[in-house]
Parts: sequence; structure tokens; C-alpha cells
Amino acid sequence: MKRVGIIGGGQLAWMMGDAAKQLGVELIVQTPSHLDPAVSIAQDIVLADVDDVHGTEILAQKSDIITFENEFVNLEALAVLANQGVCFRPRLTALAPLLDKYHQRCYLRDLGLPVPQFFALEQPENIPSIIAHLGFPLVLKSRRHGYDGQGTYIIDDAASLEQIIEINQPRNTAFLIEEFIPFQRELAVIAARSVDGEVVIYPVVETQQEKQVCRRVIAPADITPEQMDVSEAIAHKLLNSLEVVGVFGIELFLTAAGKVLVNEIAPRTHNSGHFSLDACETSQFEQHLRAVCGLPLGNPALQCASAVMVNLLGYEDSQSDYQNQRQQIATIPQAHVHWYGKTASRPGRKLGHVTVLLNQHNQTAACEIANTIENIWYSG
Ligand code: ADP
Repeated sequence: MKRVGIIGGGQLAWMMGDAAKQLGVELIVQTPSHLDPAVSIAQDIVLADVDDVHGTEILAQKSDIITFENEFVNLEALAVLANQGVCFRPRLTALAPLLDKYHQRCYLRDLGLPVPQFFALEQPENIPSIIAHLGFPLVLKSRRHGYDGQGTYIIDDAASLEQIIEINQPRNTAFLIEEFIPFQRELAVIAARSVDGEVVIYPVVETQQEKQVCRRVIAPADITPEQMDVSEAIAHKLLNSLEVVGVFGIELFLTAAGKVLVNEIAPRTHNSGHFSLDACETSQFEQHLRAVCGLPLGNPALQCASAVMVNLLGYEDSQSDYQNQRQQIATIPQAHVHWYGKTASRPGRKLGHVTVLLNQHNQTAACEIANTIENIWYSG
């Protein structure tokens, strides 16, 4: 029996619940509220923010190993615990180059992986030369704590750039500016690495974002074998170079010329891998637990021809649990509805997701099903 402490108690930790039971693993969750999704599946909880190192110290006393479902942690403070012998999987050194988006871009570039051109926004007087170099549109990103598009701005002119920087000034936000990639599609790949260095890779998927938030995922992506090889090679190189133990999500851009670039690395399970819960022999959540517990990795292959995953995003401030819409969606053949049990809905909040398994690999059919689900959900 292994006791796994998870820093973070959101839906990513919640979705480890079933796999933990199957594997005979106990989950202890560090999360700030009793109402957080993973509280319901945890054997024990530590009520503390994810960056509260005292909370993690208590978590460590209750756990054999500690892992992450949220990377907004204080690595320097955690390093003290690691030095005292607390076992983090992945190790803190695998997270260190990734938590700041500028450092992450530097790390990927130095590894020889293709990334958009990027600059740290350190001195405001450098802005004109960056603009002259990149032109518009360009992309402004806060270096830390961005998620679901928060902290990512696509900017069309100098005045908007100045305005956003100014609005963020009181919070002292550090920014990165990068080239806007007029991508043809966005892709993602989930990969896992074991304690022994074995790497397994899930099918490369297409992700569709609206307002920088993931709305849909289609597995597998309709890409050439070469683009698949390139995406998988990126995953291999990254996980091996960081000596990752666990699951990472890698977001990619596919350009019109067929080039694959890395957008972002999530050092944990990822929304683009939720389809694996219903569509793959081993879900990304089971895989993560297998990896961090030192178990052999499972088969990541699809068990159906294809699958489409649709996020159920909040579209209003409400306390509703949307029973009606959920029941209606559940009547779609081969649909699996996952509801995270959050007590409050607000616009953009991830409340649940649906995966529909398909007997054929047909992009048009997948999009039609996604439209049907979104029509039921958003017209509610
Ligand atoms: P977050 O950490 O909030 O997920 P991302 O960096 O992944 O932020 O950006 C969210 C979305 O914004 C991406 O999925 C993509 O649609 C868009 N985006 C981000 N960077 C770029 C870029 N350089 N060029 C074009 N679109 C981008």
C-alpha cells in the first residue's frame, strides 16, 4: 500500500480517485477548501493552499510520496522538505525550469525544441524594438500563474499593449512577449515516464480553444505520420531530459506549413488527456499514479477508433448542478459524463466534461457530436 500525497484538490486529483482504489493506493490531498472536488475521494486531507509549505510538511507526514495536480507551488520552500528526505515525484528539479513561462521557453529552446520567438519584458524601453522585431499581432503572457488563458493576451497594437501592462502594474506582474503563431491547428500530447525511465506516449490529439480556453479535444488528431513522429520525439526528449517521473501534458502548435512548435508544458495530468479516462486502456490518471508509485506503466492506446471530449464550462454565476443538461447529454450513445461536483459555477470555470467514443475516425462526425453537446449545455 502506498500513500500518495497530492498538492491540489481540483478535478485532476479527483479523477485519480477510481484508479487509486483499483491500485490500492491511498490519496491524501492538500487543498484550501472542504468543497474542492478531490476531498470526496481522499482518505485524508490537509486544508491548506497549494503554496503553503507548512501544509505540505503535514502532507509529507501522512504520505510516502508527494505529487502535484497544481504547479503553483513555492519550489524554494519545498526544496527544504526535499532536502529533509521528502520524496517528490516528479522531482522538484523537473518542475524548476517550467513554472515561469519565460524560463520554460528558454529551457525548451536550449534543448533544441522548436518554440515561438520570445522575449522577457524586463525594461519597458525595450518594447519598441521587440514590436519592431515581431510586429502585430503579438502575444503577451504573464510569466507565472497563468492558466485557462488567464494572463495570456493577443495584442493587435501598441496602445493595447501599453494598456494591459499598465493595468497589471500594481500587481507587479512579470511578462513575456512572444511571436503570434497563426496556427492551423493546436495539438497536444500526454506522456508518462516511469521511475526506470520508460516513456509511454498517448495518441496525439487536436485541441480546440475559444478565448484561449480549451473547449474540445479530438483523439487522435488528423495529422501526418511525420507530424506524429515529431510530436512524440518532442515528448521523449523533454521527459528524458527532465528525468520526469509521472505524467506531463505538452501543448503544441501545428502551422500551415506543417511545422510543429511547442506552446506550453504542464508538469502534471492535463485537460487534453481527459479522453483517456473512457477511451484508453490506461487513463492518464492511472498512469500518473503508476509512475509515481514505481509501478510498471500501462498501455496508453485508444480502445476505440476515436473519441471527442467536450469541456462543460461555466457560463453564468450559479449554484445549479445542471442535472437536466447532464442527463440529456448522457443519452447520447457512448457518452460518458464526468461532473466535478463544484458547488459554484462561474463563467469559464471547468465544471465537468463529456467524452464520446466513436466507432470510426471521422473529424466531421466528432465535430457534429461536440456541437450537439455544446448546444444542450450552453442553451440550458
Ligand atoms: P494558459 O497557460 O493560460 O493555458 P497558453 O500559453 O497555453 O496559456 O495559451 C492559451 C491559448 O492562447 C493557446 O491554446 C492558444 O490558443 C493561444 N496562444 C497562446 N500563445 C500563442 C501564440 N504564441 N500564438 C498564437 N496563439 C497563442
